[in-house]
Amino acid sequence: MTSKSQQLFEKSQQLIPGGVNSPVRAFRSVGGTPVFFKKGLGSRLWDVDGKEYIDYINSWGPMILGHAHPDVIKAVQEVAANSLSFGAPTGLELEIAELINKLVPSMEQVRLVSSGTEATMSAIRVARGFTGRNKLVKFEGCYHGHSDALLVKAGSGLLTFGEPSSAGVPAEVAAHTLTLEYNNTQQLKDLFEASGDEIACVIIEPVVGNMNLVVPHMEFLQTLRDLCTRHGAVLIFDEVMTGFRVHLGGAQALYNIRPDITTLGKVIGGGLPVGAFGGRKDIMQCLAPLGAVYQAGTLSGNPVAVTAGLATLKLLQTPDFHAKLAAQTKKLVDGLVSAAREAGVVFSAQSVGGMFGLYFSEKCPTSFAEVMQANKEQFNQFFHLMLDAGIYLAPSAFEAGFVSAAHTDADIAFTINAAKAAFKAVAPK
Ligand SMILES: *Cc1c(COP(=O)(O)O)cnc(C)c1O
Repeated sequence: MTSKSQQLFEKSQQLIPGGVNSPVRAFRSVGGTPVFFKKGLGSRLWDVDGKEYIDYINSWGPMILGHAHPDVIKAVQEVAANSLSFGAPTGLELEIAELINKLVPSMEQVRLVSSGTEATMSAIRVARGFTGRNKLVKFEGCYHGHSDALLVKAGSGLLTFGEPSSAGVPAEVAAHTLTLEYNNTQQLKDLFEASGDEIACVIIEPVVGNMNLVVPHMEFLQTLRDLCTRHGAVLIFDEVMTGFRVHLGGAQALYNIRPDITTLGKVIGGGLPVGAFGGRKDIMQCLAPLGAVYQAGTLSGNPVAVTAGLATLKLLQTPDFHAKLAAQTKKLVDGLVSAAREAGVVFSAQSVGGMFGLYFSEKCPTSFAEVMQANKEQFNQFFHLMLDAGIYLAPSAFEAGFVSAAHTDADIAFTINAAKAAFKAVAPK
């Protein structure tokens, strides 16, 4: 018998490319049919067939309070009754700008946008406008949204021009983007020595959540900060994923490094489309209408979306919120590691705040090349066994996982129990 998810997926593929509105949702990496959902509450999801899951994707991060938190829903309903959009300033935008500045002090001025992609794209434009330079540096395995200049892979050697990693991106656009290895301090030094004064900006995920989870070496981040300062390059921390999730003040508070510009998304909208970029006042004042760098948005600062963000951020400020979230996430990760060991499966895992990484490899990876060495087949088998058991993990060996404040001890225990059976099934015979 075909499930409702299968039926919907069949039909969707006729009208929506691949049946999905964002590629990872299609389950191409793990195989099988994507699950179509109809309801979420707290740590739980229900699919269109009525099956219940414990959710470890949390909409890829935003649902840090769990699904349908009553305070957030109530705030959204109240403000929605006063119109969904004005395309004119509101006091809500000022309120969230003040809160962002309080929680992330490096963001002296901030602009709201509607997605993480828009935030990073705009941050790069303002950095280029401010410096009058073109070159952009990024790191292999980091994802910063889908704008042209960022869909670039490394060229054939260090210091060579980048090549597009997507069809439809002109080589001329990619040519301004240089891609280096994450956590490779020497490469960074070599690049800055060779052409540091031509670099407009460096964009980085200060904890990477888009090649599974990769944690930065302190020395690497500190060197990056120092080199950018010395050469007048703008340092952009892309905290779309890590913002308000690894720490109330983001990864920059966790590691005590002050970027010039920060980009936010995901948690900042509490599940509605909000992004933001902001930082040094002298840089941000290059934006129109004050300066020559153009950037705009019809729905930017949308009152309903901003309200969902404000209601979410308000609840994150309760004492010990992040300490509890981090402890709960660590409990999950530790439980999975011992379950794998018991079953004799080569496996490692780690967490930072409410983010975690699971790797079917000997040790936690520190670069894209190491991430790629994980046993993908074993992950895929594990993923489907867990899905059957009602545990919804990211459908790819190369994505991070997320825990919310709604995940209870019982949820974690249930998950570890399911993993015990799944690890046994995937263990080498
Ligand atoms: C998700 C993500 C983006 C893109 O955000 P969208 O809202 O999907 O456009 C950019 N950077 C990082 C680090 C992300 O995790």
